[in-house]
Amino acid sequence: MFADNDPRLSQLLEGIVRLASGDLNSRINVSEARDELDAIIMGTNLLAEDLQIIYEELEQRVQVRTQLLHEAHLEMQKMAMQDPLTGLANRSALIDALRAAIEDSADEGPVILLMDLDAFKSINDSLGHTAGDQVLVTVGERVRAAVRDTDVVARLGGDEFAIVMPAVSADQAAIVGHRILASLNDPIELPGRSVRCGASIGLSVGGAGQTPEDMLMEADVAMYASKAEGQNRLHRFEPGLLLVRRLRSQLVEDLRTAIRTDGLTLHYQPVVELGSGRIEGVEALVRWNHPTRGLIMPDEFIPLAEEAGLISELGLWVLRASVRQLREWIAGQFVDQRFSVRINISATDLQSLQFIEDVRNVLKETGVRPEQVVLELTEVAIVKGNELDRYSLGGLRGLGVGIEIDDFGTGYSSISYLRRLPVDRVKVDRSLIDGLGTDPGQPALVAAVLQLIRACGLEAVWEGVETAEQAEILRGLGCLSAQGYYFSRPVPPDQVPDLLAAQPESANQ
Ligand code: C2E
Ligand code: MG
Ligand code: MG
Repeated sequence: MFADNDPRLSQLLEGIVRLASGDLNSRINVSEARDELDAIIMGTNLLAEDLQIIYEELEQRVQVRTQLLHEAHLEMQKMAMQDPLTGLANRSALIDALRAAIEDSADEGPVILLMDLDAFKSINDSLGHTAGDQVLVTVGERVRAAVRDTDVVARLGGDEFAIVMPAVSADQAAIVGHRILASLNDPIELPGRSVRCGASIGLSVGGAGQTPEDMLMEADVAMYASKAEGQNRLHRFEPGLLLVRRLRSQLVEDLRTAIRTDGLTLHYQPVVELGSGRIEGVEALVRWNHPTRGLIMPDEFIPLAEEAGLISELGLWVLRASVRQLREWIAGQFVDQRFSVRINISATDLQSLQFIEDVRNVLKETGVRPEQVVLELTEVAIVKGNELDRYSLGGLRGLGVGIEIDDFGTGYSSISYLRRLPVDRVKVDRSLIDGLGTDPGQPALVAAVLQLIRACGLEAVWEGVETAEQAEILRGLGCLSAQGYYFSRPVPPDQVPDLLAAQPESANQ
């Protein structure tokens, strides 16, 4: 036994107090006596030892967790500032960088380049989203490689990129911009094929008192000016461009109104049977009768309608107007059951299931036989891996309407596509008969193209025939149908009965 006044008792108490206060390193001395009190002291020391181990483990775990938390926080910060697809900065990171660059600018203001890809939509539509993503990633890499490390490259969403250059002259920035455009000239390799994707760039120089948003807006206006001029352009912002932009939005509003108030008209161009001269049908070609600008041709406003999201509405108007017109000609006995109206369909129409319904409804409303309606789709629109398009094409075919590939020879068609697609005919682009009658080698090319089309079980219409000689050569080669200024220009609907009346006698059999 130990005495009440044993000094070890107070040592034990002190030791426990030290441990309790968190000093887990402290140990209590064990005496020589090795009695019960020493056993308690040893037990307490062991407990302290355990506590210390547990504490250290806990400490380590807390450290690991803290580190993880820190990393997650950084990652989140990065994600909030980063475009996940390309790893480039995103819009908010770009705005931050731009704001900092404006604040830091001394003599030379920061420059922003805003870049939009020219052909991206059609690549994405025709080759699918995976290919589209790959194009965006490659473009991002090329832009990154064309600029300095200190420049901020961002993807603002879709196919829009931006580059902030902290302190640089407009001329220097323009040189970089052109370097970027040049780097996009090289084809982008995708599995099984390569594509080219040009771009349009707008440049804006930051001045005193400008916000990042001002600069972005100016760059955007400049970029539109580049786009309007065609591919691979770079424009600097200048105040005059704001006027151009306003005019353009006015034009979009005018077009919207025109579609809704019958401000559009259709002209019709005959498709002629080469052997007999019979008019086998007409192609409906839309025109815009603008109140102050006069007649505007489709090449000018179809792209505008596409961009402004008006193309489906326009397409529906054309569909209704042309099939109703056909019904009038049928009712007036100007045409028989063999006569067809050809309607140009945009890629957007093909992608909307509503369009199939629209065609069905128009046929029902007018009572026109579906075989008398032929939809013309451009090669680019029709040659897609897209399942939906395939479904739409099937759906349209199911209604009994004819389907024709327009502008054949300008797009990506391959023989395998021609064989697989649910189409009846192809309309060969006029560029393929350009030299017919002047270039002695041309008939052989036309014959070869015709043979290829027939080998796929299809027939061809030859577009853009301008001379008697061209018509004669085509007929001699065994081509069946053609269209072009030589036979007739597109004419307003009231002139179509005259054209029909003027057909040669042989055409009426
Ligand atoms: P497209 O479908 O290939 O139409 C043929 C274009 O070639 C027409 O131009 C026509 O006037 C022109 N053309 C016909 N014969 C000749 C010829 O012998 N020589 C020359 N040099 N040209 C000839 P247009 O009417 O200006 O139409 C241009 C394009 O606009 C059309 O090309 C078509 O892709 C598009 N388009 C026209 N109407 C519509 C429409 O209602 N909807 C849609 N989505 N697109 C349309
Ligand atoms: Mg056409
Ligand atoms: Mg064409």
